[in-house]
Amino acid sequence: MNLEAVIGLEIHIQLKTKSKMFCRCNNMSEGAAPNTLICPICTGHPGTLPLPNKQAIRWAVMAAQALGCTIPEHTKFDRKHYTYPDLPKGYQISQYDEPIGVRGALTVQVDAQPRTIGITRVHVEEDVGKLLHVGGQTLIDYNRAGTPLVEIVTEPDIRTPAEAKAFLQELRLIMRFLGVSNADMEKGELRCDANISLRPKGDKNLYSKSEIKNLNSFRAVERALGYAQVFQENWWKNAFKSGKLKKELIPSPRTYGYREDTDSPLVEQRDKETSADYRYFPEPDIPPLHFTPEFLSKVRAETPELPSAKRHRFVEMYGLPIDLSSRLVEDRELAAYFEEVVTELRTYADGELGREGGETFWRDRKPEATSLAANWLLNRIPVEHRTAQGRSVPPADLGRLLWMVFHGTVTTAGAMQVYEGMVRTRKGPHALVQELGLERLRDAAWLDPIVAQVINDNPEQVKQYRRGKTAVLQFLIGQVMRKTKGRVDAEAVRQALEQAMPAE
Ligand SMILES: [Zn+2]
Repeated sequence: MNLEAVIGLEIHIQLKTKSKMFCRCNNMSEGAAPNTLICPICTGHPGTLPLPNKQAIRWAVMAAQALGCTIPEHTKFDRKHYTYPDLPKGYQISQYDEPIGVRGALTVQVDAQPRTIGITRVHVEEDVGKLLHVGGQTLIDYNRAGTPLVEIVTEPDIRTPAEAKAFLQELRLIMRFLGVSNADMEKGELRCDANISLRPKGDKNLYSKSEIKNLNSFRAVERALGYAQVFQENWWKNAFKSGKLKKELIPSPRTYGYREDTDSPLVEQRDKETSADYRYFPEPDIPPLHFTPEFLSKVRAETPELPSAKRHRFVEMYGLPIDLSSRLVEDRELAAYFEEVVTELRTYADGELGREGGETFWRDRKPEATSLAANWLLNRIPVEHRTAQGRSVPPADLGRLLWMVFHGTVTTAGAMQVYEGMVRTRKGPHALVQELGLERLRDAAWLDPIVAQVINDNPEQVKQYRRGKTAVLQFLIGQVMRKTKGRVDAEAVRQALEQAMPAE
C-alpha cells in the first residue's frame, strides 16, 4: 500500500511588544525574578478590565498579511475556558470564530522544489504562566501570563517531516524580518504542535491523527513527526493485513508529548479536549475591532521586504546564484551589510574607472564582484562581525578592500591580513596595504628566488614530490606563501614550483 503523510502545524509565536497583551506590565520577562511583572489584570482579579495592546494587534495584522491572509473587516476576542494552574483567570482571552487573518499561504523551498502550504488562520491571544517543577513541588511564575501570542494554523498540506521543518524555518525568518518576534524556539518564543495522519495516495479522506504537543526545536519537529509516521505505518500495515483495508483497526486519535534524549521520544498523553469543551463565548469586556482599508494599507506599507522577495531581488539585481542569495537572506542584518558593501564597491569602481568604465565593469562583471562580496561575508569574516552591532569594518572600507582583491592589488590571503588590521587599528585598507607591505607581487623576478630557496630548504619533500607524491606540493606552496606573507597567489606559486621541480 502506497501511503502519504498528511501533516498540519499549529504554531504560537510570542510578540516582543514592550507591554503585555491586555495590561501595561512589562512584556520582557527574560531574566526577571518570578512574579515581579504582574498586575491584577494579568493575574485575573475580579473586576479588572483588559485593554488590547495596539502594537500587538498591528503586528498580528502585519504577520497575517505577510502570510498572504485575507484580513476580515471585523475581528473579536473570545474567552476560552479551561482549568489549569497556569491560567489564573480560568479562561484565556483568544479568538474563536473571527480571527485576524484567514486563508493565507506560504511557499517554501524543499530540496530546491517550491511547496505551497495553506494557512487556515492567524489569530492573537494571551500566553499563560509558566509551571516549574522543582524538587517534587510545582511552582508558578505568572510573568509570562498575558504575553501577546500570534497563533498560526496551517492546512494539512505538509507531506513530509522535512517539509514541516522547512516551513517553520521560513516562518521564523519572516517573523524576524518583520521585527515582531525573535521567534527563538529554545526560548519558547516559537512553539509548535504538529499533527500527522496517513492515507493511501490519491485518497482525499482524512484518517485519525496523532498530535504531538510542545515541540521546542526544529530537530524535535522533524524527529517527532518521523516517529509518529512510523507508528502509523505499522497501524496501516496491520489494518491491511488481510489484503483488504479494515478501517476499524486504525486506532483513534492519539496525543503525545515529546522527550528529547530518549530512544523513543513520543510519550502518550491524555486525549485532548475538543473545541466544544472550551465553551468559547465572546469576551464581553472588549468591543469587536473594525479594520479600515486605510489601516490595512498603512500596515502593508510599513511591512519590510520579506525573505522570499529579498532572495529573488538579490538574484535579479546583483546576479547572485540562488544558493548565495539564500544564505545571505538567512540573516536580515547580514543581507543588509551585503547590500551596503556592494553599493560601496560599486561607488568605488565608478570612482576608479570613471563613469563609463564603471558602467561597463558593472554590466560585464557584476556577478563575479557581488559573489566575491557574498563569499567574504559568508565565509571569511568572523560570524560575530556579521550583525549590525558586531560590524568591525564599515561597509565603505570593506567595499574598497574587495575592490583591491577583485583587481588583484592584493591576494585573498593578503586581504585577510588587511581585514584583521582594519579590525585592530581602524585604519583604511589602502593605508594598511602600504604599511604591511601587502601589495601583491606580480613580477616573477620576486617569486623565483623564493621558490628556489624553498626547494633548497626542503630536500626531503622535494625528493618525495619527484617520486610522484604530489600531495607534498601543498606543503611547499604553504612554505612559499609564508615567506611572501601571502603577497602572491597560491596558483602562481603552484605553477612556479611545478616548473622548478618537474616530477619524474
Ligand atoms: Zn499585568
